[in-house]
This record gives sequence, structure tokens and C-alpha cells, in this order.
Amino acid sequence: MAYAVSRAGNGNGLVIPKNHKKLLTLNVDHLYHLALDTQKDDLEKMFGDVQFVCFGGQPSRMEKFSAFVARELNISDHEMDGDTPRNYAAGTDRYSIHKVGPVLSVSHGIGIPSLSVVFNEIVKLVYYAKCKDVEFFRIGTCGGVGLEPGTVVVTEKAVDGEMNPYYKLAVLGKPVQRLAKVDQSLMESLLDCSEPDDNFKTVKGTTLCADDFYEGQARLDGAFCEYEEEDKMKFLQELKEKGVCNIEMESLGFLAMCHYAGIKGAVACVTLLDRLQQDTLSCDLQMLKKWQERPQNIVLRHIKKKQHIMNGES
Ligand code: URA
Repeated sequence: MAYAVSRAGNGNGLVIPKNHKKLLTLNVDHLYHLALDTQKDDLEKMFGDVQFVCFGGQPSRMEKFSAFVARELNISDHEMDGDTPRNYAAGTDRYSIHKVGPVLSVSHGIGIPSLSVVFNEIVKLVYYAKCKDVEFFRIGTCGGVGLEPGTVVVTEKAVDGEMNPYYKLAVLGKPVQRLAKVDQSLMESLLDCSEPDDNFKTVKGTTLCADDFYEGQARLDGAFCEYEEEDKMKFLQELKEKGVCNIEMESLGFLAMCHYAGIKGAVACVTLLDRLQQDTLSCDLQMLKKWQERPQNIVLRHIKKKQHIMNGES
């Protein structure tokens, strides 16, 4: 399917945070958890050409991803720290940010609360940097539900642990719900990036976004568990019947925040195990690391395609 190059919600492709009026009143905006600010850092000069922001859990994985981007896009003029692309958030050990050409690779830690902090500050970063037509991706790992381990799942719909499709947040002591809406064209474009020669499948499906790795994902091997194997299997089978393909911990918040911010967003995760078969990540670690490159590959193919379109190449 042809991928339409479309502009972000506000017409000129710039990201304008919903809170921009209050942000304009700040003398300096400290992007505290990134160790960047609008006074000491020329964010437009540093990041103005960013078009793709790729989030993933671990700093080391995102550092490797940025080196992969450099190889695949044949970019060699990016800033380096020794052998690796520069970590722009090196002044903090909360998160990491690497930039190679138009691709920013950002670590978000585990779970929506950790993601939400860096997401807020990255939205402000792309605003101050005057980035245009940015797309956000979460590239991650997950547990599969009835899928062969190593399968890539592109999220079609994200739900919470009670199957609600919205991200819930308490604001001023009151509950606020934000709908997690996938950008359909971005999702389809990622699905179109799977190739017949791939030694893995890429599928779309519902992603259950849990608040916890153990009880929240029906595991039997946490420190706490008040249910039995049959209860777990019944729950997981029911999920499968409802179209849930995978379980992870960030997709709902990620997609809800992208939608609320008016930024195109999509999620691609590789399944590290089949939860209908096991709870424990007991496989060969080297193999798991190799599998993590699969969704990275899918997103990079999309980025390459989009760059060809923008450069007017056939
Ligand atoms: N991440 C999760 O949240 N769950 C898994 O089972 C694997 C990765």
C-alpha cells in the first residue's frame, strides 16, 4: 500500500503541545529528566531535523538501535561518544537519547509512568526544536498469546488489564481518560514492511498493556500470586478469543499520548515467549537479543521508504 506523506494535526507539520501557552511564559524550560534545557542547549540546532522518534525500554538497546540506523541509512556524520553515537541525555542516568540523522532513539524505562515522563519532555523537545511531520514509534518486547516466539506484533488496538481502550490518569484528584488510538496509516505502513523472505511473521492484533509484569500479566512465578494454573490459562485463553495477541507494559499510554498530542504513533513489539506455554523468559539470551532487531528492522524499512518518498525517489 502506498504510504501517504501527511502533515501533523496543526497544518504546518509542527508539533504544538496542548500546553504551549503556559510553556511560553517560562524563562527557561528545564527538560529535567533529559538534562537538557532551552537556555544552555540550542535545541533547534541540535534536533531540528528529527523526523522519527523511536522509543524503547532499555538504554543499551536504543544505543544499539541508533548504531543500526547509522549503518542502514548510511549516515556517518552524527556526533559520537567514542565508538557509539552520542548520548544527549548523558547528564542524567534516567533515560538515553541518541540521534542519527533524522532518527532519535529514546529509552523509556519500564511501564507507563516512566514512559510518560520522557514522553512529555520529548514532545516539548520536538516543539522547541521546530521538528516537522514527526512520527513516534515504540519498538519493544512483549509476551505473545498463542504466537510463535519471535513474531512481530504491530498493535492494532491497545487495552488495559480490564480491556478498556483508554489510558487512565488522576489529574487534580480526578480521573481522566485518554483514548489510545492507533494511527491507521502508520500501522498499515509498518505491516507493509514485512517481507516474504523474513524468517519471522509480522501480524497485527490487540495488545494488552498491563501495569505489572507478574500478577498483572497472569504469571505464576512472581512474589505474589493468589490464583492457580487453571485460572491463568482460562484468562489467557479468553484474551486470545478476544483478539489479544500480545502483552506488554507501555502501548496504551504511548498511543493515547501520541493521539492526544496530535502525533502519528505506532507500536511494534517482538514476542519473547508464548504465554500459553510459559511464564519465564528462559530462552537463549543471545537469541532474544537477535529477535529484538526484528521490530527495529520493520520500523527502519518504513523510515527508508518514507525517506525515498520525501526525496522524490521511486
Ligand atoms: N515484556 C512484558 O511486559 N511481558 C513479557 O512477557 C515480555 C516482555
